[in-house]
Amino acid sequence: MEHMRQRIVAGNWKMNKTLDEAMELAIDLQERQDDFPPEVTVILAPPSLYLLGLEMIEEPCFLMAAQNCSHHQYGAFTGEISAAMLQAMRIKYCIIGHSERREYFHETDELIAKKIDACLLDNIAPIFCCGEKKEERVAKKHFVTVMHQLEKSLFHLRPEQMVKMIIAYEPVWAIGTGLTASTDEAQEMHAFIRKTLAGHFGETIAEKIPILYGGSVSPTNSAALFACPDVDGGLVGGASLKARDFISIIKSAGIQ
Ligand code: PEP
Repeated sequence: MEHMRQRIVAGNWKMNKTLDEAMELAIDLQERQDDFPPEVTVILAPPSLYLLGLEMIEEPCFLMAAQNCSHHQYGAFTGEISAAMLQAMRIKYCIIGHSERREYFHETDELIAKKIDACLLDNIAPIFCCGEKKEERVAKKHFVTVMHQLEKSLFHLRPEQMVKMIIAYEPVWAIGTGLTASTDEAQEMHAFIRKTLAGHFGETIAEKIPILYGGSVSPTNSAALFACPDVDGGLVGGASLKARDFISIIKSAGIQ
């Protein structure tokens, strides 16, 4: 049956907003929570500095994610935050392997695998990002690129670890560009990801993993994308910074 998986809309705020602006946005969402479809899990990934402030909101209508964490557990790693620290703050998720981390901070598939392990060790569910660059799609290498990303960062996991994962397919050419994958392109890749996971971990596990689409999701394209059978919600950047747009995207993720 379609869409029995968890439906998720996650907002990645990246390095945006002052604390006051962040609180205002979170409170705007709180005030409109009656509009959210009950079956949609809403996740916010603010800058780590604000996790504690947002954590103080009473009965939040959202769960929280960090945007990154260290692959080390503790120690002399100036500027880093560990999964154990996130867990102690009751943070449930962490985005791992975002294309901006891969590109600007030189994160490799191997490092991303270690970050996933660190998260799982401390009971943080990783939101693992994968996706091809424009030149890889043009060269028709998008499936092989994503397959390698999955193999190198996920295939070492045990089944009981894999079921905790969330995957976000984010074609790099669509992130922050206003270009979006068509519904056919998104569905085709999501089905490929699920098939690849099924080949390694088995159908039962693959059927359970939420696969989110990310890349210029907006109130105008979200409903069509989320209606694809293998698209279980979205990872939203720019449009998650405006309460109205984000709420409209959350509403469109409800089961139609
Ligand atoms: C993202 O950064 O994860 C993202 C999908 O950004 P945007 O929605 O702005 O393309």
